[in-house]
Amino acid sequence: MQKVSIFGATGSIGQNTIDLIKRDPKAYDVVALTGGHNVGQLAKDARALGADVAVTAYEERLPELRAMLARSGVQAAAGQAALEEAAARPADWIMSAIVGAAGLKPGLLALEHGTTLALANKESLVTAGPLLLGTANRNNATVLPVDSEHSAVFQALVGETMDTVERIIITASGGAFRDWPIEALAHATLAEASSHPNWDMGQRITIDSASMFNKSMELIETKEFFGVSPDIIETVIHPESLIHAMVGYNDGAIMAHVGPHDMRHAIGYALHWPERKKLPVDRLDLAQIGTLTFRAPEDARYPALRLARYVMEEGGLTGAAFNAAKEQALDGFIAGQIGFLQMAEVVEQVLDKMSADSGLTNDDITLDNVQQADHLARKQALEIIKNG
Ligand code: NDP
Ligand code: MG
Repeated sequence: MQKVSIFGATGSIGQNTIDLIKRDPKAYDVVALTGGHNVGQLAKDARALGADVAVTAYEERLPELRAMLARSGVQAAAGQAALEEAAARPADWIMSAIVGAAGLKPGLLALEHGTTLALANKESLVTAGPLLLGTANRNNATVLPVDSEHSAVFQALVGETMDTVERIIITASGGAFRDWPIEALAHATLAEASSHPNWDMGQRITIDSASMFNKSMELIETKEFFGVSPDIIETVIHPESLIHAMVGYNDGAIMAHVGPHDMRHAIGYALHWPERKKLPVDRLDLAQIGTLTFRAPEDARYPALRLARYVMEEGGLTGAAFNAAKEQALDGFIAGQIGFLQMAEVVEQVLDKMSADSGLTNDDITLDNVQQADHLARKQALEIIKNG
């Protein structure tokens, strides 16, 4: 039996992971499930899977969780220390699917114990790629990509060596505004930015998809995870979102990963790796799909892509500042304080200001200085938003 834990079990990635595990209960021994506010779902899954422990991130929710787990044999726990204790429990495979910067520390702890970490949490690589991968290396632990683009690149690299790779092409749907006149973007409303043409996801990631901040994070993750120069990383708009990424080799071949819009594919690949096993995802009918199209992203429509290039080139703590400023700018847009295009302006101003006054290019990436850069960037973003 494989011992598994799921961090962020109540979220979209967590629930898809649980779906796969429930289909083959004899194969898995569930150690820890963690969640946040949704303690009802957490308790239900922890009971159904016979987890050793269920942890909510919020201490005030513990009595409720404990009551729901009474006589189940599942231990209830809460708070940051309990999350960290759960991350340190021996497991063969841990899903890192907490959203936001809070996902970094449990992932690091899991890697310190030599576990295989299936990484969905984007912020870990964007804010602290060298720290995460260095921790994995030192402890003989493995990080596997779960974001669909990185899983696609990873799969297209099987049996190949990096020295033959000339290009990594990350596809983007182009988001809600890919066909809008650029002049109209300044007036895009929250409702308009919150509806995605292809994927059904949460509001924040859908807006990040319209602005391409999501793709920007993925470009930075690509550089960090695969250890390649930013120059070989490309983005192309592919409105059908069926090719998730491509790898171009030095003989001119491009290997494309094609698959349905279902995160259970990438999660399942990481769960069964290095084997490939049958998964409950739709089989594509290519004749019915008919056409796959591509076009170049325009700089004026997607300023976030230019900012991602800057972050990839600068390295150091720039990723932590970028992520924090982007989250704060997104909050400002959702709250109606700034317009759609101002999100990128806020992030750019924070990066400019921070690279001028502080050691953002410090390559000594520790959890402490990542948190400090995060904190400072949020403060500056808030000030910029407040001062209009
Ligand atoms: P969700 O918002 O659906 O779920 C997030 C999970 O994290 C929930 O279990 C939530 O608990 C928990 N959580 C939230 N805040 C905290 C906190 N401060 N401390 C501990 N736990 C917390 O996110 P997704 O599943 O969509 O995404 C998870 C990660 O994977 C993100 O980094 C995302 O960018 C990335 N990702 C997602 C993809 C997708 O298709 N959804 C694709 C690729 C990457 P609760 O809900 O109970 O409050
Ligand atoms: Mg993705």
